[in-house]
Amino acid sequence: MLTSEEAMIKKLLILTLVAAALTSCTNQVYDLVIAEANVLDVQTGQAALQHVYVKDGKIAALSAADKRVSEKSALRMVEAKGQLLTPGLVDVHFHTSEILGEELSTDADSILRYRQKFAAAYLPYGVTTVRSGGDSEAYIPMLQAWQEPSPAYPDFIAVGAALVSTPRDPRPVYSGHVVVNNPEEAIAKIDQYHQLGFTNTKLYWRLREPEFKAALNRAKELGVQPFGHIDYKVLPLEEAVKAGLKNIEHAYTVGIAAIDSAKYEYINAWAFVDHYPKAIKNNAVDGSFFISRMELFNQLGPNHPRMLELIELLKAHEVSVTPTIHLFAQRFGLTYFTTPAKLAAYDYTEYLVEEERIRCRQGYFIMGQYIKQMHEAGVQLNLGTDWDDPGKAALSEMLELHEIGIPMPDVFRIATLNGAKAVGMADTIGTVEVGKRANLVLFSQSPLEKPENLLAPKVVIKDGVAVNR
Ligand SMILES: [Zn+2]
Repeated sequence: MLTSEEAMIKKLLILTLVAAALTSCTNQVYDLVIAEANVLDVQTGQAALQHVYVKDGKIAALSAADKRVSEKSALRMVEAKGQLLTPGLVDVHFHTSEILGEELSTDADSILRYRQKFAAAYLPYGVTTVRSGGDSEAYIPMLQAWQEPSPAYPDFIAVGAALVSTPRDPRPVYSGHVVVNNPEEAIAKIDQYHQLGFTNTKLYWRLREPEFKAALNRAKELGVQPFGHIDYKVLPLEEAVKAGLKNIEHAYTVGIAAIDSAKYEYINAWAFVDHYPKAIKNNAVDGSFFISRMELFNQLGPNHPRMLELIELLKAHEVSVTPTIHLFAQRFGLTYFTTPAKLAAYDYTEYLVEEERIRCRQGYFIMGQYIKQMHEAGVQLNLGTDWDDPGKAALSEMLELHEIGIPMPDVFRIATLNGAKAVGMADTIGTVEVGKRANLVLFSQSPLEKPENLLAPKVVIKDGVAVNR
């Protein structure tokens, strides 16, 4: 028999235990709570007020924002006060040379310093995942080190170098390329990169059909995501698509595929410069990359039947396209910043007179119409920069996609979920959903109300850690 005092103590003890158990299951402590955020669902384009709970770098819970969140439930609280919260942005086309130049050191200290530069170029702008478009094989140790997950850096998806066949012309092989001389070497290269932990691969247009098909098929067998820059009709776009290529780099290459090459003896940077007498007078090659691609679209004009046919083909084969239009927009004064021309002549367009510049802009907007048509037809677009100042360029690419007629909520889907799908990471990133990594951007002013608000101050959260305030 218990005395009444002992019984009382026992009762109290049980009550205390019950209370403790209740507290632990109702008052879960999260690492971070973002209270009253206007959370964008990039799949529906709708935003709703929610509290977002983050634990161990992941989104642990979401709840309607009708009740206040207790201060005690989070180690850290961000009061969003109705600001727009989106998934972190995904740039699917980057080269280390764009922020670091060439001839890098590969010692451990340098690798770390370069990685800090990489983070500074991207994270403050909201880009939390970056896929390479090909880098020198000399940097493989650096690429591997950058792939180590960390809240302090954007996720990095290396591809190694871009594959090319044995060159048939005397041009040197670019530093970011690697030659595969036959299908066996192409397969061996895909295997080697796969063993290094590279989940994506890059097939460059100088890769001819036997090596292209061998590399593509091997990549698919291994579950490696292949991206192709298909150009100059070395391999016709239709062939690449029918062989199973699912991601196309650069929207302008669809224009190259559509133009009648019999009419133009060869499709390259020189072919259209005839339309720019002043360009010829000033040594025809200057700026020819930019001028010729814009002129290509002037030549095609809007609604060219071949372009519409190719858009149908891309749709039918579920091929995604990464437009990369910022790089043209910035050259022709169409966006909020311009990268100074590099010494390379191809990048130099300063000498163009206004009339020529206007003609380039016309070509740009014709290209833009085709990109909009791709989007409306249901072709998946991805965000890719392929240019200097890549974080700034990513925001510019979004503004430009909107400028050509794509609604802002769709632009956000392109910049987040679509990229995540293209690089094979849609299970873990690309939406604000329970279980996904807490890679998030909180915009102080909503880009849904005014697109230029993309440039407004923002809080960027990588793996649950706020990068900047
Ligand atoms: Zn590139």
